[in-house]
Amino acid sequence: ADSHAAPRETLGPRLVKSALYTYVRPEITHSPELLCVSRRALRDLGLKPEEADTEEFKHVFAGNKILTWDEGTKEGIYPWAQCYGGYQFGQWAGQLGDGRAISLFETTNPDSGTRYEVQLKGAGRTPYSRFADGKAVLRSSIREFVVSEYLNAIGIPTTRALALTLARRSKVMRERVEPGAIVTRFAQSWVRLGTFDLLRMRSDRALIRQLADYTAEHIYGGWETLPSKLPPGDANTTSTSVSPGIPKETTEGSGVEEENRYTRLYRAVIRRNATTTAAWQAYGFMNGVLNTDNTSILGLSIDFGPFAFLDSFDPSYTPNHDDHMLRYSYRNQPTIIWWNLVRFGEAVGELMGAGSKVDDPVFASQGVKQEDADELVKRAESIIERAGEEYKAVFMAEYRRLMTSRLGLKNFKTSDFEELFSEFLDWLEAYELDFHHAFRRLGYVSLAELETDQGRRDVAGRFFKRDEAPRQESERRERIAKWLEKWAARVREDWGEGRDGERKIEMEKVNPKFVPRSWILDELIERVEKKEEREILDHIMRLNLNPFEEHWGWDEAEEERFCGDVPKYKGMLQCSCSS
Ligand code: AMP
Ligand code: MG
Ligand code: MG
Repeated sequence: ADSHAAPRETLGPRLVKSALYTYVRPEITHSPELLCVSRRALRDLGLKPEEADTEEFKHVFAGNKILTWDEGTKEGIYPWAQCYGGYQFGQWAGQLGDGRAISLFETTNPDSGTRYEVQLKGAGRTPYSRFADGKAVLRSSIREFVVSEYLNAIGIPTTRALALTLARRSKVMRERVEPGAIVTRFAQSWVRLGTFDLLRMRSDRALIRQLADYTAEHIYGGWETLPSKLPPGDANTTSTSVSPGIPKETTEGSGVEEENRYTRLYRAVIRRNATTTAAWQAYGFMNGVLNTDNTSILGLSIDFGPFAFLDSFDPSYTPNHDDHMLRYSYRNQPTIIWWNLVRFGEAVGELMGAGSKVDDPVFASQGVKQEDADELVKRAESIIERAGEEYKAVFMAEYRRLMTSRLGLKNFKTSDFEELFSEFLDWLEAYELDFHHAFRRLGYVSLAELETDQGRRDVAGRFFKRDEAPRQESERRERIAKWLEKWAARVREDWGEGRDGERKIEMEKVNPKFVPRSWILDELIERVEKKEEREILDHIMRLNLNPFEEHWGWDEAEEERFCGDVPKYKGMLQCSCSS
């Protein structure tokens, strides 16, 4: 970390000790072309739309101008790359780090008070690039830019993207030579579970404690904001409660119940990740590479490589072409995130296992003695186990909440799980129906249409692809019609009579019409890269930032095509890791 303002050539690959970052300057990008800026991101960073039109904006986010550093006086904030490790496909992979991401500065939105760390991805090599080139290709940059802003638009916690810059003169060698690009991205934190894994592997106890303190105080907004007391009314937790709680640590002897603060931090990290994972499941999103270095300490969706949204509902689908074991498939995501969180529990295990001792000044300054370490980790194991119950409970509560509203209901009933959710997903899967269309199209259905057998069978036909609907066997329609009958009864129960219009409006607000599916991203890439189209990015971004709208005032035929059935042979595509 002492290589302040070091010239680029001295920044070769290295193993770093006692630190988690290195100062490093982005490479100069010749003739950068600003391809697209997210209006929503500008707003959230507290910038005015006009500011994106300046030469300065272009050069700052091409890595050419360092806003916060004065070359003359050598003062200010110098860009840096973070160091982390990670378990990749279940195996410890050693030191990784920002191999092609360089953070520029932090900035706080004056209105919201939210602080963000702004970074460039694809701006050149860092000490963590290992054997790779520090570059990003246009195709993966377009994908990351679009999906970051989409997830945010549908309310899923995620890292964000501000700008997409084409580095025309930077040719990047992958399977072929490709144009390079830079994504300007930002997040409340870029710390990953893998950041803790690395320190555990280095046995750097002092730095684990320091990082945990930093996480609680600066990422989570203070120890006092972390879960502590058992949530009120825990004994009779209702089925919709998001606060399952776990038994507290008992401070020996004192009789005062009080939870160790690192256990509280662990629980906070678990709860955030459980909530985000539930949202991925409810909205059919898959990250594709949920390694611990791609799992955020703040429960953000992070690192968008071979991600995808479901087209038809197939739980064993993985978007990652190289994921032969289906480790990162749709169905496995909740389990894998928990696996990652257990690794995190092991990294902070000594701190959690120490109970109230962590506040003892002698203990705190010396860290943990080796002879105590095993005992502490053993004690932490039961904490991790109980936290697993909390993970499941928070996950389920959030998943139920989202599915309840996506299906147009107001209150969750225990019987809904089997009778509505499961059966709905079962027929989607059995008939290979489109996951997103099913929710959106259900929102268009009026209860009045479901009053007769014939009416229900007609409506059932709408869940099939438009060109396949006429050929559907009656048995299939019958099954869907039966479900629709049960659903209609539940809607009536929750809403009462005469409020169907309201229910439809509520459903539109939670069931996006536009989803940036793989085939759409492929077409977008093709048009931007090969055909040098530019406006298409802005058009797609309008849909992408406002996915719940019905019309966007662009081109009705194009809007309908991008929101319509997946073209033949373009469903459930897979992506390689090369990016
Ligand atoms: P990922 O599979 O995206 O999680 O990447 C794993 C690690 O490889 C991360 O530390 C990345 O920064 C690094 N990495 C991936 N691609 C490149 C590249 N082109 N140049 C440098 N580092 C890279
Ligand atoms: Mg990564
Ligand atoms: Mg990546």
